[in-house]
Amino acid sequence: MANIMVTEVCNLHCPYCFAGEFVNKTPKEMTLDDFRTALDFVLGDGTKNQVGIIGGEPTLYTYINEAMHIVMNDRRSFYAVLFTNAVPLERLDPEILRNPKLHMLVNCNSPIDMGETAFEKMRHNLLCFKNEYGGGNRFHLSVNIYKPDFDYSYLFPLLDDFSFNMIRISISVPQKGNLNGKMPLEYFKEMKPVTIRLIKDMLHRGVVPQFDCNFIPPCVFTSDEREELLNTKSKMQKSFDKGHLPWYWEQAIFCERYNCSPVIDILPDLRTIRCFGLSEYTKQNINDFSSISELRRHYEFTVDRPASEIWTDDACSGCHRRQNVKCSGGCLLFKADRIAIR
Ligand code: SF4
Ligand code: SF4
Repeated sequence: MANIMVTEVCNLHCPYCFAGEFVNKTPKEMTLDDFRTALDFVLGDGTKNQVGIIGGEPTLYTYINEAMHIVMNDRRSFYAVLFTNAVPLERLDPEILRNPKLHMLVNCNSPIDMGETAFEKMRHNLLCFKNEYGGGNRFHLSVNIYKPDFDYSYLFPLLDDFSFNMIRISISVPQKGNLNGKMPLEYFKEMKPVTIRLIKDMLHRGVVPQFDCNFIPPCVFTSDEREELLNTKSKMQKSFDKGHLPWYWEQAIFCERYNCSPVIDILPDLRTIRCFGLSEYTKQNINDFSSISELRRHYEFTVDRPASEIWTDDACSGCHRRQNVKCSGGCLLFKADRIAIR
């Protein structure tokens, strides 16, 4: 899915924000005409039928209702996914909140990070979305594990409130990929214990963890740890396994089937980036590309392909996962300065 960044303004200051190059610096907004141009670019060649609306906090965009109506009324779009913290959700018109095309991924921080008042407002707005607008099946929570002692217990009451069956998880990568001298695999080893605890706690509650692009490389888990996690899943087999093939579990629990691929975010000034992690290195202008497919091929050719030939840890050198482009050893940002990005 490609995303349109409608505003660089955000009401929160998440400690791990991956859009730090833009958010709340000298915040820009997209004009409504440029929004139409960006939407045409995303949906125009028929390879996409959904679009992500992102920020900053997209509900703070001056023209958010106009923009959402444009997406909802566009026959080419099946879904619009709003990436929101849901604190200012009441800014959306009721008919947008009711529209089955609207889906949300809610970036869910702890009350310590976002403040008690904002947390309670988020929770209240989500309960309204579920109970008053029929949105119970149209949103999921997204959680960023950003430190080894990350306390995720604030999620439990929310899981009870909303009966989710899945949660999106990401291992945050520090700004500019700066690991303070650590190697990426060391960083992931530090994040492993909290990640394992979280996966087990989610599985025990009947919630499937789904890793986003930033996940722990497979070699970081020992075979005992893998077995233990898969056994945790097996205990829940009856409620979980319906309709899921075996590979689903490896993808869900370990995220092992796919490497990351170009996301494509369109900035308010109609420049594009491959993804926020690589925003500093991959800016292009949509006017230089005839279609989103052409732009995607450009990123695959100039970023993804060279990245697969570079490694940050000796262990990756002869690893079949790297050779088969199934693991990049963590976020490409860790080797961005060595990729000959054109
Ligand atoms: S490519 Fe590197 S990080 Fe990925 S599984 Fe292989 S050794 Fe581990
Ligand atoms: S390079 Fe890959 S892992 Fe890193 S932010 Fe971009 S899509 Fe995610």
